[in-house]
Amino acid sequence: MTHRVAIVGAGPSGFYAADGLLRTNPDLHIDVIDRLPTPHGLIRAGVAPDHQGTKAVARQFDRLLARPDLRFAGNIEIGRDLSWDELGAAYDAVIVATGMVIDKKLGVPGEDLAHVWGSWRFVGWLNGHPDFRQGPDLSKAKSVAVIGNGNVALDVARVLAKSADEMAKSDIVPEAGAAISAAPLTDIYVIGRRGPEHASFTNNELAEMGRLSRAVAVTDTKGLDATPPSSDPTPARLRKAKNLEILRGFANNKAGAKPVTVHFLFQAAPVTFKPGEVELTTGKLPADLVVTCIGYRGEDFPKREDVFPVGWAKRGPTGTIPTNRAESHAVAQQVMAWLKARDPKSGPDVLPIAVDAAGWHRIDKHETAAGAAHGRPRVKLTDWQTLLDVAQDG
Ligand code: NAP
Repeated sequence: MTHRVAIVGAGPSGFYAADGLLRTNPDLHIDVIDRLPTPHGLIRAGVAPDHQGTKAVARQFDRLLARPDLRFAGNIEIGRDLSWDELGAAYDAVIVATGMVIDKKLGVPGEDLAHVWGSWRFVGWLNGHPDFRQGPDLSKAKSVAVIGNGNVALDVARVLAKSADEMAKSDIVPEAGAAISAAPLTDIYVIGRRGPEHASFTNNELAEMGRLSRAVAVTDTKGLDATPPSSDPTPARLRKAKNLEILRGFANNKAGAKPVTVHFLFQAAPVTFKPGEVELTTGKLPADLVVTCIGYRGEDFPKREDVFPVGWAKRGPTGTIPTNRAESHAVAQQVMAWLKARDPKSGPDVLPIAVDAAGWHRIDKHETAAGAAHGRPRVKLTDWQTLLDVAQDG
């Protein structure tokens, strides 16, 4: 008899877990379940639309979808269409790969104003996530405040700062691309609450900010002679030292040298947001749009011995996509050990009718054909019902 494993979440950590399970060539059936009609999770909804090299890993995951022992079940939400208890009763093990999809809050006054956006929602809009089809009003946005010193803050600042030409080969949704191109943007502030030696930017992503055609990156020399914390492990210290070197290069640039200036500000924590303005511990700045990029939290899931979290659901919102591979493979080994000691359950198939792999391929074909007409990798469908209709009929 065959063991059955449900993987909840069709993002990178879920697919790497499936890959880890299948590498042991087991007598196993795997269902990869997702709330969205589309697979790929963060690769589709979170990786910036201009970083197509990062998104290319999705092709590996699509190859897994062709396996006869793996089934994709999109448009199924656990808790709505099927309870965690029903899932636990029907499967021999459940892998939770649901990521973290809720923007953390700063907890400062004005955070709920319409022009203050969390990065999950903002990047979801850029990426055509069907829950976030309505973008911010950028028609009068001259100044943008981006709160946070991680790679998500750089993603947000870069996509706003890039020219339409630089975004031409991306899969940004056309409405977002057009709104950004038409916005009268002149200043983007990337704001860190600590010094530059603590920023969690990675070097390539920070250096890219210095190579934008319509934007110049600038910063103050103050604090750039700091040394990275000696308590950090060596790779983090090397990365931070290189960040400081890159920032010293930015300090030689002149604000206003290009149509858009990206200002890196440090030791500045948000105190309050008002329409058109952000007050920081260091003073006030104009801000017609604020995007907080300060991390995420996840939704609850049952903590049981047959439930195995992976990826961000396991370790929190840190690490790049490849970080998940070894970790998900290790969890797959734990799942195999758990299954080995147990007889398979023999209940009926409880999955409701869903978007299967063939449905996803129809969506994929539709989107890539629409993209080809514009020289882009794809033009995403963003309306939930249209996604379902195309999955059904092509
Ligand atoms: P992150 O690297 O943890 O950065 C979060 C930032 O938010 C930090 O600068 C943090 O400052 C700041 N922050 C947190 N709470 C704050 C508060 N109350 N007030 C002000 N600032 C606050 O997280 P992320 O940028 O969301 O990225 C998540 C993960 O995805 C990271 O591992 C990242 O490298 C990865 N990622 C990678 C790429 C890529 O490889 N291209 C792209 C995007 C994301 P403190 O340091 O002071 O806490």
